[in-house]
Amino acid sequence: MKDETLLRYSRQIMLPEIGIEGQERLLNSRVLIIGLGGLGCPVAIYLAASGVGHLVLADFDTVELSNLQRQIIHTNKRIGLRKTESASAAIQALNPEIKVSCISEKMDSDKLHNEAMLADIVVDCTDSFSTRFEINHACVTTQTPLVSGAAIRLEGQVMVYDPNKESCPCYRCLHEHSREGTLNCAENGVGSVTVGVIGTIQATETIKLILGFGESLAGNLLIFDAKYMEWKKLRLHKNPKCSCCSASLPEI
Ligand SMILES: [Zn+2]
Repeated sequence: MKDETLLRYSRQIMLPEIGIEGQERLLNSRVLIIGLGGLGCPVAIYLAASGVGHLVLADFDTVELSNLQRQIIHTNKRIGLRKTESASAAIQALNPEIKVSCISEKMDSDKLHNEAMLADIVVDCTDSFSTRFEINHACVTTQTPLVSGAAIRLEGQVMVYDPNKESCPCYRCLHEHSREGTLNCAENGVGSVTVGVIGTIQATETIKLILGFGESLAGNLLIFDAKYMEWKKLRLHKNPKCSCCSASLPEI
């Protein structure tokens, strides 16, 4: 590792949980971030700052004025640009040592599966159930860990699917009966810092999964209420009838 790289990451290399070996592992990792909105912005900027070597950014939207209250990677000057291009510019300005790839069109199922397979971790920062189910399916099929976050109004939640952890529930185990509704930020609003808190936790879990230290959220649902500053951690169980992760398992 060259001196400049050592200096850049020196404060986290000092941590026994990371060290030089961990930093090298981060630099050799590839993370797919889907959605560069309120959640994806802090995820992308923290993973870039931490030195995740290859970030693949997927989003087909362009930057709008109403995004800027919470989507902190974008700027007033970049309104109208692709969110992927805007995020890439911010990341390169912060850390030119890492590689950024952009996917600026909607991914079909094949592309999504291929990208999930290539990634060490997938971070779901999208805002619709149908997209979340597709991402979950790609991760379960390719056995890629998934860090999933959601936020609305002043509340948010995070869960982790880790195929390396025995009997780990997937996103579908929890939301089998959830359907697309009107629970979106455009109609209900969302607090700027609330998405920041949830995105930052997603970035933390991603780094932990890459490095394998501590205990990840896998098997739990973390719920955050900003209004009353309350946190809850609920134990989740695999749904033996889950249409995604249990479908291909033999019956006992
Ligand atoms: Zn499942």
